[in-house]
Amino acid sequence: MRSPTYFEDTLQEARLSKKALEKKESADVCVIGAGLAGLNVALSLVELNKNVVVLEEHRVGDSASGRNAGMVCSGFQREPLEIMQLIGYEVQLNNSVTVIAYLYIYKSYFNKKAKTLWSWASEARDLILYRVHKLKINCGIEKSGQLTLSCYPGVITSNLVSLINRNFGTSFKFWTKEEVRAIYKSTFYHSGLYDPDSFSLHPLNYVLGLARACESEGARIYEESKAIEIRQNSQPGRPWVVCTPHSSVECDYVVLTKSFSVDFSCNTKFERSLASCYTYIMVTEPLGKRIREICGPHPVCDDRLSLSYYRILPDSRLLWGGLACAFPIKSTQKQIKLLRQDMLQAYPQLEDIKIDYVWGGKLAFGWDLMPLIQEKNGIWQVSGFGGHGLIPTTLCGSLVACAISSNYADTRWKILSESFQPKYTGWPFTTFWTFLYLKAFQLRDYFVFKFQKRD
Ligand SMILES: Cc1cc2nc3c(=O)[nH]c(=O)nc-3n(C[C@H](O)[C@H](O)[C@H](O)COP(=O)(O)OP(=O)(O)OC[C@H]3O[C@@H](n4cnc5c(N)ncnc54)[C@H](O)[C@@H]3O)c2cc1C
Repeated sequence: MRSPTYFEDTLQEARLSKKALEKKESADVCVIGAGLAGLNVALSLVELNKNVVVLEEHRVGDSASGRNAGMVCSGFQREPLEIMQLIGYEVQLNNSVTVIAYLYIYKSYFNKKAKTLWSWASEARDLILYRVHKLKINCGIEKSGQLTLSCYPGVITSNLVSLINRNFGTSFKFWTKEEVRAIYKSTFYHSGLYDPDSFSLHPLNYVLGLARACESEGARIYEESKAIEIRQNSQPGRPWVVCTPHSSVECDYVVLTKSFSVDFSCNTKFERSLASCYTYIMVTEPLGKRIREICGPHPVCDDRLSLSYYRILPDSRLLWGGLACAFPIKSTQKQIKLLRQDMLQAYPQLEDIKIDYVWGGKLAFGWDLMPLIQEKNGIWQVSGFGGHGLIPTTLCGSLVACAISSNYADTRWKILSESFQPKYTGWPFTTFWTFLYLKAFQLRDYFVFKFQKRD
């Protein structure tokens, strides 16, 4: 087994020159966390001429942001119609998942909000492409679209796809079961939804490229500088002080993008609304041309509640991900065994292939599986991107930066913030509830598969 991740082994962007915060700093904004969320906020702020310091506990890219699958899938973790539903618009999904959109669909306020969010996510997707090009980030963009394949008959229908296209201006295409199976050599999948605008990239090169761009625009990024306290400044000057073990940053605003522990108590409701889970990825040996003939040309996500996804890497390896679980799976052998089982369920013909890499990551999500943004007295909190972070972190970075640099005149962030408020996720037993929640979905997938007539 090679270590640590495939993306570390194929790194092309340079790591930052490691430096911890030793001297006192002063900045307009102190961003805590240099993952995708923190770096997108920082980059958008420096583009708007703000003076920014970023504090990172470990090294840039060591977290989920540099270890993910690099699939830049349109929109959010929630599908467009689910977003409409979540923010109050009534869309009914019955068992065969026929969609009945009610009267006045175009006049609905909520529908407008859902459309707005979706169109912002599309702009954020374009912003990623623009920045990668402009900043010469060497992250191997592959514009191969993305296919959502349904494991159940009758779930993705042409009606559903047309309804989404009509309402959200998307150009998704419906693929029948026959079309899917002609290209994807698996009887596991039924119909599909093809999104031509999604793409893939090398996540570690991308996140390091963002960090390089932040620094070249004037942001100071300090690695191995854990923020341990946020307090009000007792001296005249900037209102907030963020402390690290050896020094501190005075600032007007703090943007917290760390997700997992409740140690700042700036907004306890927000912090307690986040749940976390672990998910895993394995990468096979190079498989040559054979792999595209079996697994098809486009990256795939399936529609099981316990979701699996895959894509073929430029050197013909298969990257396969999934296995969301509340507690970490410590043994690499077990991670491989479970991911293999999952892969073989769809592609039994891949029995003989060798696995070269396996790794995991931790992600944070809120009740609605949508990003959360909150602000209180100049302290911003941005998190909850779940397994779909590349586009939403770009969007939230712009929204927060525009609000701060306009002195809060730009209120677009409130559309997201007010639509998806922090909700109770079972604190202080969040991990236990997450365990039950994920198990329930995994059991449901298991039984549906066991008893479903397959063809
Ligand atoms: C296995 C896996 C596969 C995924 N695949 C995809 C995919 O294909 N497409 C997609 O869009 N999304 C994917 N995601 C999700 C995506 O990676 C995340 O949504 C995104 O990285 C979240 O970014 P973040 O900045 O919020 O969090 P993180 O990446 O966790 O960054 C938070 C940072 O804050 C730092 N930090 C924490 N506490 C402190 C502190 N006190 N002081 C200073 N720094 C601190 C941490 O060290 C970390 O670097 C995947 C995630 C995983 C785990």
